[in-house]
Amino acid sequence: MQGRLMLSAFSFITEREDTMWIDYHVHSRISPDGKSSMEKMCESAAKKGIEELVFTEHYEFYKDKKKNIFFNENYMEGYIREFEKCKSQFQGILHLGLGLEMGQPHVDPENAEKIRERFPFDYLLASVHKIEDIDMKYLCGEKTRERYEEKYCQEVLKMCQTCEFDCLGHLNLYKRYRKQQQNFSETNQQKKLIEKILKTLVRRGKGIEINTSGLRQIREPLPEIGIVMRYKELGGLKITVGSDAHKEAEVGYGFEKICKMLNKAGIYQIARFSGRECFFESI
Ligand SMILES: [Zn+2]
Ligand SMILES: [Zn+2]
Repeated sequence: MQGRLMLSAFSFITEREDTMWIDYHVHSRISPDGKSSMEKMCESAAKKGIEELVFTEHYEFYKDKKKNIFFNENYMEGYIREFEKCKSQFQGILHLGLGLEMGQPHVDPENAEKIRERFPFDYLLASVHKIEDIDMKYLCGEKTRERYEEKYCQEVLKMCQTCEFDCLGHLNLYKRYRKQQQNFSETNQQKKLIEKILKTLVRRGKGIEINTSGLRQIREPLPEIGIVMRYKELGGLKITVGSDAHKEAEVGYGFEKICKMLNKAGIYQIARFSGRECFFESI
């Protein structure tokens, strides 16, 4: 409802062509790998005519809790403070959503639940970035690629079966790390796991994100459009779009292109979230 009201205030923008002007996955400097301040991210979004921006700062979970030296309550409080500041600063210009990108929450479910219940999130994204507490980018070498790509799919499946969240973030993240090896297709085992992941999402009423960072890095979104089509074919409804911007220039990246791709694939609506409630928007 809130989104609908908000939309009418921006009708001059949303009626413009067939473009989506929302971004459901951005990081500011609050995240350890973010490059721009939250204010700069908002300014950039406002300049581009984006009407809704959902911050999904990182919160990584670790199997071995001693390895977590960064993500704690202080981190979250700093995030909320900055968010509230920007929310009032950009009131009437930009609708801001409070989100979180939970990294492998299934490895520390108690802590994940604590964080989820403690703060008033609009949107929760769940992604796998690490296997056995090691970042995927360090694991996907030429010789180890196949093993870890399969392991990644197993971890995503586990997360989807056991965790509470709204949408699955950038499925097939490993493609980002294949670099010149894009031509490899998934093994049969990977394909089976991906099918199971999609069925689990649909059964549990969870959404899937299509992430445009892949368009910047490997010329296809994450996951590729075929996977999103399969999710829809299985009865899935909640598809969100995010740029995974880590600096202001990347906010809203590739949205026109992704919109055309989705339409071509027969997808004419995307999901938005407010207070973790989902509603749909035509594209
Ligand atoms: Zn991510
Ligand atoms: Zn991200």
